[in-house]
Amino acid sequence: MKKDRLFRISIGMVVIFVCCAGFGRQNGPSVQALILEGLKQNRPFVANEILVQFRADTNDTEKKRVRELIGSSKKDDIAKGKNGADLELMTLAKAQSLRAVINNLFQEKSIEFAEPNWIVHHTDISNDPYFTNGSLWGMYGDNTSPANQFGSRASEAWATSADCSDVVVGIIDEGYMYTHPDLAANAYKNPGEIAGNGIDDDSNGYVDDVYGWDFDKKDNSVFDGVKDDHGTHVAGTIGAVGGNSQGVAGVCWSVKILSAKFLGNRGGTIANAIKAVDYFTAFKLKGLNLVATNNSWGGGGYSQGLYATIQRAAVADLLFIAAAGNDGRNNDTTISYPSGYDLENIIAVAALTSTGAMASYSNYGSRSVDIAAPGSGIWSTIPKSSFHRTVSAYASYSGTSMATPHVTGAAALYKARNPSAIASEIKDAILHSATPTPSLKGKVLTEGRLNVETF
Ligand code: CA
Repeated sequence: MKKDRLFRISIGMVVIFVCCAGFGRQNGPSVQALILEGLKQNRPFVANEILVQFRADTNDTEKKRVRELIGSSKKDDIAKGKNGADLELMTLAKAQSLRAVINNLFQEKSIEFAEPNWIVHHTDISNDPYFTNGSLWGMYGDNTSPANQFGSRASEAWATSADCSDVVVGIIDEGYMYTHPDLAANAYKNPGEIAGNGIDDDSNGYVDDVYGWDFDKKDNSVFDGVKDDHGTHVAGTIGAVGGNSQGVAGVCWSVKILSAKFLGNRGGTIANAIKAVDYFTAFKLKGLNLVATNNSWGGGGYSQGLYATIQRAAVADLLFIAAAGNDGRNNDTTISYPSGYDLENIIAVAALTSTGAMASYSNYGSRSVDIAAPGSGIWSTIPKSSFHRTVSAYASYSGTSMATPHVTGAAALYKARNPSAIASEIKDAILHSATPTPSLKGKVLTEGRLNVETF
C-alpha cells in the first residue's frame, strides 16, 4: 500500500486525508488484530497498564463500570480522540492476561479500542567517543574526496544561504542540552511562557514549559544531565550552530529546537509518546512555524492511540520523521513502529555508511522505508561528565537515530527556503531529490539517499 505514497503526496494534503481516512484498516487486518499481533510477537509493554479509548459520548458512570469490569483504576488522561473522546491510561489491580482484557474491552460498546502501553527505545546502536575521524561526512557529498562522497550535500546548500531562524522543529526523544555552546543559540523558548512563575501562562496544560516538557518525569526540565546524550546528539545534527568556528554544524544552522522529552533511562512509553506528539500539534495549531517532529525511537507493537495522534499531526500539517529501526530487517514483512504506520506525513529513514552502503544494522523496506541518510559515524553534540560536572562535548554515534535528524534538518531547510510549502510539498521535495544509490535499490521507496543541494 505504501509503494504509491511517493506519488500520492503530490496531489495535496486535503485530497489525501479525505481519500485515506482510516486507510490501512478497511483493507488490512482489524485494529484489534494489529494490537494482538504485537502481543503475539512479545513486544515489550508496561506490566499491569492498559490504554483505553472511550467513545465520545461515554459518561462517567459508564467509564466507572468499565474500570471495575477489568479491575482497574485511572492513572492518567492521555489524549482527546475523535470528537473529544478520552484516551485513558489505567492500572490493572492484579496481574492478568492483557490479551484477555483487551479482547473483553473490544466487546464493550463504549470502547473504541484498548491496547498495551508499549515500551519504546531510542534507535542508536553505538556511541564511540574515541572515534578519531572527525569529519562531518554526512554534511558533504561533493566528491572532493572518497570520504565525503555519500553525504547529504548540506554543505552545498549552505553555500547559498542557511538561514533557518524562522523555522522550528520538535524533538521527541530524551531531553537535550540546550546550554551546549553549539546549541544554545538555537534553543527555542516558548514565547507564551514566563519562566519560573509557576503559572501555565499559555494555557497549554504545562507549567513553565520554556524549552519544552519532560513527559517522563512530568516537569519542565528537558535537560537532566549526561543521560540526555541521545537527544542532544540528535539536536546537533538537525541544528548545531554553524559558522561559529566551534564543534559541529547541523543541517540547518539556525533552526529553532523545542523538546518533548519522553525517553528515560529505561526507554519510554506509548502513552507519553502520544502526549509528546499532541504537545507539538497544539503548538502548530496555535500558529508556530513548526515543520516536523524528529522521532529517533521505535519499538513496541501497533498502537491505535499513536496512529490517531500522528494523524492529528498530519491534519495540522506537521511532518513526523521517524527512524526505520536497527534490527537489520525488512520492515515490509515485520512492521517497525512508529516509522511503519501508513500515514502520509511520516518519512521513514534508513541509515547509510560513509562508503555509500546501507548500514548493516539498518532496517529497510521498498514500501515501508522512504529514503536513506547518513547514519554511521556521525559526529554531533553531547553532554558529558567531567570531574562530577556536566560539560559540553562531541561524539560519534551510529544508528537510524542519527540518519533521521539529517532528514528533519532537511525539512527545516526546505521550509526556510520555501516558506509557503506545506508538509506534503516538503516531503515531496525531500523524496524526489534523493540521489539514486546502488546499495538502496529495492531497499527503500526512493532507492536513494538524502540530497538537499537543490533546496
Ligand atoms: Ca505552558
